[in-house]
Amino acid sequence: MTEKSTTCKVLMYKNKPCGRQLYDDQGMCICHSKLENKDVSHFQNEIDNIFKDDTSDRLDFNRFFFPKKDWRFFRQTFHKDANFKFAEFSGIVNFWNAEFSGKANFYRTRFIGKAPFYRTKFIGKVEFERTEFSTEAIFRRAQFSDKADFYLAEFSGKANFGRAEFSGKVNFLSTFFYEGILLRNGIAKSGAHIIFDIDHLIYNYLWVKCVKRSENISRNEMWRVSADIRSFKIDKNAVVTFLKVSMEGVHLLESDISRMEFIAVEWPKTNRWHKRRTLADEVIENVRYEAIVDEIERKKKCSLIAQVYQGLQEIYINTYRYLEAGDFFVGEQEMRRKGKGKLGQYFSLNNAYRILSYYGQSMLLPLFWLFGVISIVPGLLMYGEVRINLQDKSDIVTYNWSFNISDLLFLKTDYWQTFLLNFSFMAFSRSKMHDALTEPWQLALVNIEALVVIGLVAMSLLAVRRRFKRKNF
Ligand SMILES: [Zn+2]
Repeated sequence: MTEKSTTCKVLMYKNKPCGRQLYDDQGMCICHSKLENKDVSHFQNEIDNIFKDDTSDRLDFNRFFFPKKDWRFFRQTFHKDANFKFAEFSGIVNFWNAEFSGKANFYRTRFIGKAPFYRTKFIGKVEFERTEFSTEAIFRRAQFSDKADFYLAEFSGKANFGRAEFSGKVNFLSTFFYEGILLRNGIAKSGAHIIFDIDHLIYNYLWVKCVKRSENISRNEMWRVSADIRSFKIDKNAVVTFLKVSMEGVHLLESDISRMEFIAVEWPKTNRWHKRRTLADEVIENVRYEAIVDEIERKKKCSLIAQVYQGLQEIYINTYRYLEAGDFFVGEQEMRRKGKGKLGQYFSLNNAYRILSYYGQSMLLPLFWLFGVISIVPGLLMYGEVRINLQDKSDIVTYNWSFNISDLLFLKTDYWQTFLLNFSFMAFSRSKMHDALTEPWQLALVNIEALVVIGLVAMSLLAVRRRFKRKNF
């Protein structure tokens, strides 16, 4: 039997035992005791002593248990490296305007109550690895001057980083955002590199719970967690990287798209026949399309979304990913078209371009119109005289459609002959046109047809070329 220790044996920084006087019968001091009703003023004294202690090179709160109370580190300067590893806060802890001059380590710290880090300045490196935030975590206007690591941190409530400033590397890899992350109006300053991977941006609370209980859950049962990265400013030499992120809930309006990186991300697709990659912002605006009563407001929204699409195109073209770039080009054009208002969206050049060739992306659509044109023109030509047999000038056909059912079902031989004649003008030679057609309007019609056909063929070929364009070595 060893003699019962009279001091606290809880291991602190560098596995050094705590050494404070025992407080409870579990062999722990007032700082480490898990008793909820422990003497708060005594505990506060111990904390004050840590700040006053000149002999230690750090502020060591390793494994401290903070009972339910509002703890205030309001405007507190942590003048040395601060260590909150494994600490637990049962109540609210307030770091408003606090400043961490050295490193700050919150490895596996548990915040049961709210933990506002509003305007908190992290001058040195900050570690939030595996930190648990049980309610909303507020990092609004916080400043991260050096590296910040949120690896495997769990945000059970919303992670609010609105207007926060980042200057170093920020690791959001494998971070769990159960209620989403808000980075709106934040700034990545020169030298910053913020990285998200995110299976974890899409998988929700439910999923994590089920995985923890080793249950199976299908992807469809999960809801997407949103990331609001609107109006996010990215300085020169700063990057925001999305790695394997499902972009379904990621909102990027008014941000510096050109300094973002998208690696193996998954864009949501439209439900229409052309499954085009879209922005979450566009999907949302479509849902609320009717709700945006104000025409000016709607035009503004459309123009902003178009700008994001334009930025994405540049990124994807620069990295030779033309398929995606094509989708974003369509997205941009669609937004420009919809921005033209209720009538303008249908009666505009954009819409004509869309109908003719899906903004130059479809190779089949122009061919469809081409088929339409060369089918209709022969019928029109037959309103005048058409000499079918050019050797025997007596063989003339003219329009005599009777519009009875059999005529329409088994198109008349005259029509087919005219069709072939007209087709030969388009495909081979138009020199015999003057022998076959007599009236000036017929000649004009065929000339116009020729121009339209050339245009449509060109559109189709360009779409093919776009699809198969590759990097030239
Ligand atoms: Zn202790």
